[in-house]
Amino acid sequence: MSNATQLLQNIPIDPLTGALTVPIYQTSTYVQHAPGINKGYDYSRTNNPTRETLEKIAAQLENGKIGAAFASGLAAIDAVVKLLKSGDEIIAVDDIYGGAYRLFTQVYEQYGIAIKFVDASEPENIFNAVSEKTKLIWIETPTNPTLKIADIAAIAKIAKANGCLLCVDNTFASPALQQPLTMGADIVVHSATKYLGGHSDVIAGLVITKEENIGARIKFFQNACGAVLAPLDSWLIIRGIETLYLRIKQHCINAQAVAEYLENHPLVDKVFYPGLKSHPNHAIAKKQQKGFGGIVSFSLKQDELQLAEQFVSNTTIFKLAESLGGVKSLISHPANMTHKTIPAEKRKAAGVSDSLIRLSVGIEEAEDLILDLEKTFVQLELLIKEVKAKVSDTTKAEERIYC
Ligand SMILES: *Cc1c(COP(=O)(O)O)cnc(C)c1O
Repeated sequence: MSNATQLLQNIPIDPLTGALTVPIYQTSTYVQHAPGINKGYDYSRTNNPTRETLEKIAAQLENGKIGAAFASGLAAIDAVVKLLKSGDEIIAVDDIYGGAYRLFTQVYEQYGIAIKFVDASEPENIFNAVSEKTKLIWIETPTNPTLKIADIAAIAKIAKANGCLLCVDNTFASPALQQPLTMGADIVVHSATKYLGGHSDVIAGLVITKEENIGARIKFFQNACGAVLAPLDSWLIIRGIETLYLRIKQHCINAQAVAEYLENHPLVDKVFYPGLKSHPNHAIAKKQQKGFGGIVSFSLKQDELQLAEQFVSNTTIFKLAESLGGVKSLISHPANMTHKTIPAEKRKAAGVSDSLIRLSVGIEEAEDLILDLEKTFVQLELLIKEVKAKVSDTTKAEERIYC
């Protein structure tokens, strides 16, 4: 049975009424027959049937044992870090999601958990960084916004050999394209806000574990710390997941077409998309992913903040907004938005140049998306000419003054 068919088969029919869709159990508590004797539910922070259904579906999607749904992607990440204790160390990918960076460095470092950042596109860098204090290796692949790829199987071997856990933030690829647990990872996390939800209408996170005992620890933290996903939001994620394979297929087709268009545009400097043969990690992406995803980044030959600012403000179909992974195409300017708080030097060293633009390519027709970009490039070209003309006018004026 194909993955898409299996997924839809896995979404249960309500045994009570035969409802085709999963019921939303909008309740905080459950009536008990006698103290402690109930139908498996006593309080919705601890367990809720709608959330439980999502957690089972998510575990099946990622080929894992236990799923746990959280109020956001960051709450999911937070639950995984809680597996560590003071004195332990994390090795994390250097262009990690900004929120995870903030959580690791500004929250967990103060509790004595050390963090080292390395470029994970070379597994050797991780190998060299591991010490006996390392308890967790944290990677994202592809990364944001420069779409670097890490070899999951190779890094999983390093983790195993050194007795530490490997957690993969699988938000960008989604389980439709990549299943890290089958490649040796121990834990997968998702910002379900992105591709799993798919409609930019809910904030949610998931943790999926390969082992039952680690899953039980995560479930303990979920209840003990309380950042649970609400029943209605759980239902929205289930509804989103139903069309995951179909949406991802179109995201991949569109992103490939957009990336190829950009690669041939005279105003574009670099295009970052693992589906391009020019991508430095194209071979690894091809080996471990079923497709290359919906995120494309590119930079301009004239690497100026102002030009990129103009570009992202002028597109029509691509809406200027943070976030990604929804059906509608979005555009963003990392240097001025998601990466604004990172010092310019550090930001540029990580490959986020002034003119870097990130596209979350949606499921519209590729042709329309390319026309939108084409129209915006024409406007940009006019602007560049205007600026040049102004510069030469002032030079002429200055020449007149000085001669
Ligand atoms: C958005 C995102 C997160 C954080 O998820 P929230 O749902 O916004 O808390 C974590 N990792 C990646 C890769 C993301 O894109």
